[in-house]
Amino acid sequence: MKEPTSCVFWDDPERATKGPLHEKFELLETYLKDDNWWRYLLKCRECGQRYVFEFYEERDWEGGDDPQFSTWIPVETDQDVASVRSLRRAELQIFRPSLHHDWPKGGPRRIYWVAGDGQIRSAPASVIGKSAEALFGLRRLVAWLRRLKSHH
Ligand SMILES: [Zn+2]
Repeated sequence: MKEPTSCVFWDDPERATKGPLHEKFELLETYLKDDNWWRYLLKCRECGQRYVFEFYEERDWEGGDDPQFSTWIPVETDQDVASVRSLRRAELQIFRPSLHHDWPKGGPRRIYWVAGDGQIRSAPASVIGKSAEALFGLRRLVAWLRRLKSHH
């Protein structure tokens, strides 16, 4: 997949996360709509770029403030859509390029692109240039690997 460099959210990813989703994106298809897990095909209202979008809220039954993760994967052809829409959650999370909005429990929000080469983009200055693996931290990586393993 190509980096959507002409889409407004490439240079301003934070904008994708502000306000209601439908104001910025047209909903083309709903693949999954659960209480805490949604997967959609969206279209940027400004440029028409399509994204496979996922929202996931981890249920942590103690005291709310559940961690939330949103992911946008830019897709071009219907073949792209078909291959991305059915990825497992852990696979979607490491797919690139991809735009992420991570809101860990009690932690600061992080909004960033993982570019095609794996480098972090448009994130706070402190993390630009670090690899995705370094940014995500060991704990989440281990959790992903466990999930990937348990699916095979
Ligand atoms: Zn756009």
